[in-house]
Amino acid sequence: MTHRISGLSRRTRTAAEADTAARLDAIRDAPRLAEDFFRRLPKGGDLHNHLSGAVSTEYLVELAAEDGLCVDTSTMTAVAPPCGEGTRPAADARTDRAFHDALVRAWSMQDFPADGNGHDHFFDAFGKFGEVTWRHRGKLLAEVADDVAAQNQFYLETMVTPASDGAKQLAAEVGWDPDLARLHEKLTAGGKLDRLVAEARKESDDADTEFRTAARCDTGSPRPACRLPVRWISQVSRGSSPERVFTQMALGMRLAERDPRFVAVNLVQPEDSESALRDYSLQMRMLRYLRGVYPGAHVTLHAGELWPGLVKPADLAFHIKEAVDVARADRIGHGVDLLHEDDWQRTARTMAVRETAVEVPFTSNAQILGVRGADHPFETYRAYGVPIVLATDDPGVSRIDISHEYRYAADTYGLSYPELKDLARASLEYAFLPGASLWRGNPTRDGYRPAADCRSTELGTARPGADCRRLLDASPKAAAQWKQERAFHHFESKFRAHS
Ligand SMILES: [Zn+2]
Repeated sequence: MTHRISGLSRRTRTAAEADTAARLDAIRDAPRLAEDFFRRLPKGGDLHNHLSGAVSTEYLVELAAEDGLCVDTSTMTAVAPPCGEGTRPAADARTDRAFHDALVRAWSMQDFPADGNGHDHFFDAFGKFGEVTWRHRGKLLAEVADDVAAQNQFYLETMVTPASDGAKQLAAEVGWDPDLARLHEKLTAGGKLDRLVAEARKESDDADTEFRTAARCDTGSPRPACRLPVRWISQVSRGSSPERVFTQMALGMRLAERDPRFVAVNLVQPEDSESALRDYSLQMRMLRYLRGVYPGAHVTLHAGELWPGLVKPADLAFHIKEAVDVARADRIGHGVDLLHEDDWQRTARTMAVRETAVEVPFTSNAQILGVRGADHPFETYRAYGVPIVLATDDPGVSRIDISHEYRYAADTYGLSYPELKDLARASLEYAFLPGASLWRGNPTRDGYRPAADCRSTELGTARPGADCRRLLDASPKAAAQWKQERAFHHFESKFRAHS
């Protein structure tokens, strides 16, 4: 019925790839060696990453202590000082191990039982540590970008909620209007939305300053974070009122057109909440309208992060489909309920033709939805030639890293080394980093062949030719891709002796 697309190929293409593939096959069942292999494997970029959920929980606990925050001991929620009745200083976690560990369990999936309600525990964690994270976007980024670089990745797109309070106020002031063009006019009237854009840019400037200090970027010993290309994706709180959702969307898309640090919008919060379900189609129509106003902004959407039992069958039938057909999302986050949707084959074919990538965070899907292994539509997306990018979602809350996700994919679906390599390449190819690609055409369908300016024989070498150099200088995307090809060359060279 379906056919395997050649792009994600099991075949090795060079002797070095063949040797590396043989090495992987030899060590698959040796945990320590496999762990080392997957940590050192170049793994593209992380395209689905929520900044506050990405930082390690231990760091959040320390940050709460540094800021003199308190913890409500009945709910383990961080609250602002002074520490009144029913609370205790977060700094107690430095000396009280049991308190520290209880915080880690409340703010992450640590020790969470497989038969517990992972969905609720996961989403509740963000509310519990929210008082810690909103103050320190720069410090969080320094931690997360260091982690990404240490994982042998070359790029990060991470999600934050820009000018959150300002957007809430503006939405309340403007109110709802079902005529979206008129609503957008009301938002922009008198420079209102532009003031919000300015506020969001100021917030980013402040975050940059905090980041550069925390990562020591302007000193003689900069942390690896300083060298990582990073772009922001603006979160939209899908559980909010329609006017607030629309305001956040317009803000994020205007920001993506005006400030190169921002590239896209995404809808966050549980997709299965009552208001998110009720307004889903309306929100897709909002995005469709705003895409016409802001054609330079990208859209990636959490869609189909659902499973039977979590919502009623009617709500399983159309979320990915509308994200693709109505909102015309550039990428889909999760897409787990694909096979439960109406006409899903057509949706999958559309995604393949348009190269609408699906962002797959396996551990998150297992923890929140209980979906793993053969239940996950990973193999179906592959069979239809839909681009796939592995991602972490919330590595801090989930207590995993991207190496773990690649290893899970390799173990669960029996992926070969060339297939893993193409997954890593896909996660830069389908990034919103601007510029022409190092690869030509549709690489998911046709395989990764260099663009005309760069020859295959140049890939991974230290000195690209003049035409190729020009491409790399002009394109941040191609430059990141080149860096990864260099890393693959280095990685594979380690295994020549073992063959
Ligand atoms: Zn997510």
